[in-house]
Amino acid sequence: MKIETIAIHAGHRYDPQTGAVMSPIHLSTTYLQGNDDNLIYGRTNNPNRHELEACLTALEGGAETVAFASGMAAVAAVFQSLSPGDHVIIADDTYYGARFYVTDMMARWGLTHDLVDLTDLDQVRGAIRPNTRLIWAETPSNPMLKITDIAAVAAIAHAHGALLAVDGTWATPMLQPFLAQGADIVVHSTTKYLGGHSDLTGGAVVFDTGESLYERIREQQNLGGGVPSGFDSWLLLRGIRTLPYRMRAHCENARAVAAFLAAHPAVHTVHYPGLPTHPGHAIAQRQMRDFGGMMSIQVHSGRERAAAVAAATQLFARATSLGGVESLIEHRAPVEGPTTNTPYDLLRLSIGLEHPDDLIADLEQALASR
Ligand SMILES: *Cc1c(COP(=O)(O)O)cnc(C)c1O
Repeated sequence: MKIETIAIHAGHRYDPQTGAVMSPIHLSTTYLQGNDDNLIYGRTNNPNRHELEACLTALEGGAETVAFASGMAAVAAVFQSLSPGDHVIIADDTYYGARFYVTDMMARWGLTHDLVDLTDLDQVRGAIRPNTRLIWAETPSNPMLKITDIAAVAAIAHAHGALLAVDGTWATPMLQPFLAQGADIVVHSTTKYLGGHSDLTGGAVVFDTGESLYERIREQQNLGGGVPSGFDSWLLLRGIRTLPYRMRAHCENARAVAAFLAAHPAVHTVHYPGLPTHPGHAIAQRQMRDFGGMMSIQVHSGRERAAAVAAATQLFARATSLGGVESLIEHRAPVEGPTTNTPYDLLRLSIGLEHPDDLIADLEQALASR
């Protein structure tokens, strides 16, 4: 089946009792003993969550999915499944929450790490140690849109008995097959494109067949307890049904906006992998189906100017997050705090599903504002 069909049907079943075409939302925290589906207790089981996990597994062509209450709960579960003394290599521009989680919180529990530019394969090879268990990539990355060659980094990891996990939030399963290109684990913040409407928080870890950390991460879901509710699982499934068509339009709009911005004199750099000038363009062309709806731009004359442009947009909402139907703009570095590596003249744009002419007109007036 093709991904459009999977997004609508995978994991879904018509309610056997009522014939309801849409699944009922299950709020019950406990189940009668001896039920047909072996459901026991709300933290361990929820029919909407099980439906969601089956759908995500099918979308990724994986073996198992473990759903969490947020993207960060999913990220945390992966690193918590490792042991004190293990070593991980994480991309130097990993999402700042995940980076802090590894470099600060997990470091206190004895997990060792190196921050590496994964676009430089020699650096990756050089950072491998005998106790390296996992390489953590994010492609395209947040907020610099760096492109990591999934197959090449997977080959390095596997040659040394390590796993490759990829944060696939920005690409979604629609735009980038992760497992088929060699990743062992895919992590999504489903808060973003998968939910798609900026009205739920969620995360998921998807596993390839025979992946060794699966059991521990399932335990982490059950006993760590960071589970998504039945309602959030239901909402997320509702979002996923339109994901393939939403992603097409996000990409089409982003392509038009990126072309406009690349030609604008107030903008000195556009980070969008769909542009032939982007350093990761060739790899993105090979490993992605399209280039996504996210981009960052750097504007002339620095921090104040970037803040002023973000403040002057009328259609783009000045807010963090991404992947919803509405366009967002964010002056990123101040949000990431004093430890940020992000340039202060950078604005991150989540291109929504409004008409691209209206988005371009809004950016045009904001860039011209004084
Ligand atoms: C938002 C985001 C996360 C964190 O997800 P939450 O749902 O906010 O916890 C992780 N990685 C990337 C790339 C993100 O954009």
